[in-house]
Amino acid sequence: MVIPFHVREMLQRIKARFDADQIPQQMAPSDAEFSTLRPSRKPTKEIIGRFWNQLKPTASAKDQAQIADPATIEDAETYGTNIENFIGTIKLPVGVIGPLRLNGMNANGDYHVPLATTEAALVASYARGAYAATRSGGVSTAVLYEGVLRTPAFVFESLLKAGQFVDWVVTNIDMLQSAAEATTRHGKLVSLEPFIDTNVVFLICRYTTGDAAGQNMVTIATDALCHAIADNCPVAIENWYVEGNFSGDKKASALGLVTGRGRKVSASVTLPAEIVEKTLGTTVEAMLDYGRVANLGAHLSGQFGAQAHYANGLAAFYIATGQDAACVAESAMGVTRMEPRGDDLFCSVTLPNILVGSVGGGTGLPSQTAALNILGLRGSGNGTALAEVAAATCLCGEISIVAAIAAGHFTRAHESLARHR
Ligand code: NAP
Repeated sequence: MVIPFHVREMLQRIKARFDADQIPQQMAPSDAEFSTLRPSRKPTKEIIGRFWNQLKPTASAKDQAQIADPATIEDAETYGTNIENFIGTIKLPVGVIGPLRLNGMNANGDYHVPLATTEAALVASYARGAYAATRSGGVSTAVLYEGVLRTPAFVFESLLKAGQFVDWVVTNIDMLQSAAEATTRHGKLVSLEPFIDTNVVFLICRYTTGDAAGQNMVTIATDALCHAIADNCPVAIENWYVEGNFSGDKKASALGLVTGRGRKVSASVTLPAEIVEKTLGTTVEAMLDYGRVANLGAHLSGQFGAQAHYANGLAAFYIATGQDAACVAESAMGVTRMEPRGDDLFCSVTLPNILVGSVGGGTGLPSQTAALNILGLRGSGNGTALAEVAAATCLCGEISIVAAIAAGHFTRAHESLARHR
């Protein structure tokens, strides 16, 4: 019997660090006294102070001043609409890239893109990609498809009942659509597809959500749709759940890659060979060579799609502009392609799950509003343009990282920017 080396090594490290006799006691359930944090949605100075008092054993007055600084406390009421148990704000560095030229269906012009991150080298890399793309005439972008999914699940006694339920849903679709759409001015139920697994039926409900990212909107609308079913459907339902964990909300899924959730966006640019050499310090051939290896790696490791690091740009973009950062889990999927066009390099990305809004969510918070203003994309009418900027930013990141690895500059860039500051 072969025990893998890393298992032995891990056990050795544990035994070196812990007394084996004490581990059971250390890991046993504890009934020690604790004083619970009283939940609060009201961020008054007094309540914020109460929370900080409870944090005293570990947090100093200096820590409190960092997080609960005067400007933050001044805006506490605004922040309170987006959080519970508010104690202040975490400050993140924000960098800007651009101008990033977009020749898009929805985003047209030169954009400065704010990116919030603690990762040195990230902004420099995206800025380099943006420079190469803009010098090449700009990025073509289009939103190809829209629709945020919610997938409620209904449980029946048998397959027969599940089938009768689907028949009833299809017959009553207009009533169900009205019930869902009565909850929102901007959300529209654009399709409803039943998916049966013996006695369980998932309803794949797809909504357009105006300029909002739409996750709350579709939850509220779907809840109304489910209640309309529960109140009117003659088929006995044993249980129903507003989300059957089918929609791909906040996780990478095969469904998301194929059908998309949010906005599906393509962004592309052709980089002339001369610009690849002058701005990226490598050649078209070297980028194509590395691109083939990177694609093989993606296939062999079972990636959903094939791309290098959408998550870097998306996380920084989502945080800066008040999007739900957890949605990077589903958004950072898609396909990057690099192909020869004569002597030049065609680069494209397609991301089927971009979840961004120019209204709603965290977009109304003070610094997030300011970041959207830098882009000129705050408020109604800008949701699709924002999605195109997000995809184009990802394209810049792909161009830069492929160039850096192809040229052998990747490690050096991180050493000089992130380690030897
Ligand atoms: P939201 O802030 O809950 O809703 C958007 C609001 O903006 C709605 O009241 C909408 O009105 C209004 N609105 C005004 N002008 C609009 C326009 N031009 N287009 C669209 N809406 C407009 O935001 P959301 O986008 O629905 O949800 C995003 C939030 O959901 C994020 O903060 C995320 O963290 C959270 N989230 C929730 C769930 C969940 O299951 N509940 C899951 C994941 C994430 P109408 O409704 O009348 O149209």
